[in-house]
Amino acid sequence: MSRPQPTIEDIIQEALQNDPNADVETLRAAFAFADEAHAGQKRASGEPYINHCLFTAMYLAEMRLPVNMIVAGLLHDVPEDTAKTSEEIEAKFGKDVATMIAGITKLGRIKYRGIERYVENLRKMFLAMAEDIRVIIIKFADRLHNLETLESLPPKKAYRVALESLEIYAPIANRLGMGEMKGRLEDASFKYVYPKEYEWTLSLAQSTREGKREYLTDVIEKTDQALAEAGVKHIEVHGRSKHLYSLYRKLLRQDRDIARIYDLIAVRVIAPTVADCYAALGVIHGVWTPLKGRIKDYIATPKPNGYSSLHTTVFCEEGEIVEFQIRTQELHNRAEYGIAAHWQYDEHKGKEDHVTRKAPVHMDWISQLSDLHHEASDTGQYIKMLEEMKIDLFKDRIFVFTPKGDVIELPEDSTPVDFAYQIHSDIGNKCTAAKVNNKMEQLNVMLKSGDVVEIVTDKSRKGPNPDWLNFVKTRYARSKIRQHAQASIKGWIKGLIPGSGRG
Ligand code: MN
Repeated sequence: MSRPQPTIEDIIQEALQNDPNADVETLRAAFAFADEAHAGQKRASGEPYINHCLFTAMYLAEMRLPVNMIVAGLLHDVPEDTAKTSEEIEAKFGKDVATMIAGITKLGRIKYRGIERYVENLRKMFLAMAEDIRVIIIKFADRLHNLETLESLPPKKAYRVALESLEIYAPIANRLGMGEMKGRLEDASFKYVYPKEYEWTLSLAQSTREGKREYLTDVIEKTDQALAEAGVKHIEVHGRSKHLYSLYRKLLRQDRDIARIYDLIAVRVIAPTVADCYAALGVIHGVWTPLKGRIKDYIATPKPNGYSSLHTTVFCEEGEIVEFQIRTQELHNRAEYGIAAHWQYDEHKGKEDHVTRKAPVHMDWISQLSDLHHEASDTGQYIKMLEEMKIDLFKDRIFVFTPKGDVIELPEDSTPVDFAYQIHSDIGNKCTAAKVNNKMEQLNVMLKSGDVVEIVTDKSRKGPNPDWLNFVKTRYARSKIRQHAQASIKGWIKGLIPGSGRG
C-alpha cells in the first residue's frame, strides 16, 4: 500500500494536468508556508511532519479538486499544531481557505473515546457538512493518510482511529457517493479493526486474482475487439478489482464462498455516450450469454447515492462467470468521486465558476440533530435516539443541486416538485416545469444524487395541482399542496352560496 512520498512539484504536476491554468504560485507559497510552520516537527513514524501535509494535498489533487482546496490540504494542520495563526493564513491565502481550515481544525479537536465521543464526533461531522462539504472532503484525505501510517501508532490508538473511520467516515463518504474514497478508507481500516478477517480475505483475493490474471487479459482483449468490429465507440476497456473490505462483506453474505462472488474482478467499459453504453451491452450479450436476473440498469434507475452504470454478468470463455460494468466517463467520475465531482475542474464551464463554487447544505436532519440534543433527558437517551437516527440518515436520502450549486437534501425518489417546495413554498406553488441536468423533464421524474435541478415557475399560476399528491415524497410538499387544495375548495363553495362570502 505504501507509495513514494509526493513532493510539491508532483502536486503541481497533478494540478496542472487537471487544470492547465491552475494557480501554481499559490501552491508553492502554501507549501513554503506550511514547511516553515512545521519545521522540526516529526510524525510518530519519525518522518518530517510536512510529509503528511503533502500526502493530504496530493490526494486532493488526484481527486481533481481546485487549487484552493489543495492549499487548504497543505495548511490543514498549521493553526492547530504550529505557532502560525489562522489570521496569518487568511492574510496570505484569503478568507475562503482560512474558513475551510478552521472547519478542519474544529473537527480534529474531537478524539474518539468510547460511545459518547463517538456520538459527539458524528454530530460534529454533520455540522461541518452543513457548513461546507469541502471541509469533509479535505478531512477524508487527511484521515486516509493517517490510516495509511497507523503502523507507527500504539495498537490501541491505531484500533480506535481505524474503527472510527470504518464506522463514521466511510459511511459518510458512501452517503456522499464517493465510492473510491469509501473503498480506500475501509480497506485502510480493515486491517486494524478485523486483523484476522483481513488476512483471510487478502490471501483469498490474491490467490483467486492471480489465477485469473491471464484469463482476464484475454477477455478484455476479446471485448475490445468485439466492440471495434461492431463499430461501437468506447474509450477504454479495463479490469477492476473489488475493494477488500467490500469483498469481505459480500463473502459474509455468500457463506464465505469466493466462487459465488462474480465481481471479484470485473471488466469495465467506458463509452462516450449513454447510447454507446447500451450498444456495448448488446455486443457483449452477443458474444457471451448473460446470466438470468443479473442485468442491472442503474442508468435508468440509479442507486440512492447516485451510482449509475449498466451491470451484466455473463458466461464467459470456458464457462467462467465474469461481471461487466459499462458507463460513460461522466458517470464513471461520479461513481468514483461522488459529491466531490461538483468541485472538479470542468473545461466546458467557466474557471471562476468552479473555483468559487461553494455548497452550503440545507439538510434538515442536521438541525433535527441539534434539536434532539436539547430534547433528550440524558446522554443515554440521546445516544439511543442518535443511533436510530443514524440508521435513518444514512439510508434513503439524496443530494441534489440548485443551478447556483446549493445542495438540497431530499428523501429518495423525490421529484422536482419536492425540490421546488424545499426551496420555497411559493416556488412549489407556482412551478410548471423542471430542467434536470439541463434537460426538460416531467414534474414527477425521480431525482437522483448529483442532479442539477432548475424549476420553471409561472407567476400567473393559481396554485399547485392536486394530482401532484400522487407522486410527491416529502411531507412538507404534501401538506402545502393539501392546504392549497382545501383553501380553493372552500373558496369555491363560498362562491356557490350567496352571501356566505361576507361571513
Ligand atoms: Mn492532519
